[in-house]
Amino acid sequence: MLHRDPSAEPGRGPRLTSALPLHDALVVRVDFGSCVVLDPDGELIEATVRGRVMGPKKALGNTVVVGDRVWIEEEAGRRVVENVAPRRNQFSRRAAGNEPAEQVLAANLDQVVLVASLAHPEFKAGLADRVLAQAEHSGIPARVALNKADLAEAGVAEDVAVAYRAAGYPVHVLCARSGEGVEELRHSCQSRRSLMVGHSGVGKSTLLNALAPGIDLIEGRVNPKTGKGRHTTTAAWLLRPAPDLELIDTPGVRAFGLWGIGPRELEQAYAEFRPFLGACRFSDCSHLREPGCALRAAVESGGISRRRFESYLKLRDELEQEQSPQRGREARGER
Ligand code: GDP
Ligand code: ZN
Repeated sequence: MLHRDPSAEPGRGPRLTSALPLHDALVVRVDFGSCVVLDPDGELIEATVRGRVMGPKKALGNTVVVGDRVWIEEEAGRRVVENVAPRRNQFSRRAAGNEPAEQVLAANLDQVVLVASLAHPEFKAGLADRVLAQAEHSGIPARVALNKADLAEAGVAEDVAVAYRAAGYPVHVLCARSGEGVEELRHSCQSRRSLMVGHSGVGKSTLLNALAPGIDLIEGRVNPKTGKGRHTTTAAWLLRPAPDLELIDTPGVRAFGLWGIGPRELEQAYAEFRPFLGACRFSDCSHLREPGCALRAAVESGGISRRRFESYLKLRDELEQEQSPQRGREARGER
């Protein structure tokens, strides 16, 4: 039975709805043409998405992502996403492929947890600093989880931890395998929707299992309707092992392309650089070799970690080359 319900969708005026009232739900998974949502009563259900919501391309793209709050309507026994609530933030990266395109990984986050390993594979500042810069750019707090402490050579954990603590990030040194340090990280994730990002092989799955014992990551990837496994290794998945714990697992990345950050904006995405920005003698200082460079002075005096400064220069170089191969070479004084 259809009836008019003027209160169902605020701001959109009266509209026709089915007898079942609209309700809101949380997107925990997005597939090609549908998504899995968590109902307020804790049930996982599959929902298709109204074409109007998808836009002219009739593709989900970035219109519905994990972490979105959506309005669900029941229609002939099927659940349909009618609307997506405005996001308070979103975490993106550059999509794979030659054409520049945005891929929104998740929305409405409380924090990003960068999962890295200290050994096997060794710590890679390139990925770590990209993820942290992207979080900073998106206004999302971030923390650093350094795994495989048991395999790290003496001093390595301390070295990396000091650099990131100095940059203002909470750092966890842990061993997912033995569980050391896991409780503290779990505590820091409590009541904070947390996006876990890391290289493949760093132990992110092991860590998730340690954070949420009993959660079966493989089981979680099974289609709730058909019971069949999903052929989806590229999408994020929101896990809620306890009412106050929401972890978003992302597939291990090989490369992480920044989105929406150009070479000139990059310095703003290194949070600890900010107090020194604008203090260089030359307003267009490239922080490479100009006299009176406040950033380089801060590196010399220990206010900025050399590790972070060097990764900044390297990353900026890459961004410059992406934008213009010729300009990148000129900036480095090459021809
Ligand atoms: P993912 O690709 O990031 O999900 O990594 P996995 O969780 O699959 O872990 C990759 C490998 O590292 C596996 O062989 C794990 O057993 C191992 N591993 C994970 N965490 C630790 C750790 O803290 N210490 C050691 N020694 N090995 C670990
Ligand atoms: Zn400078």
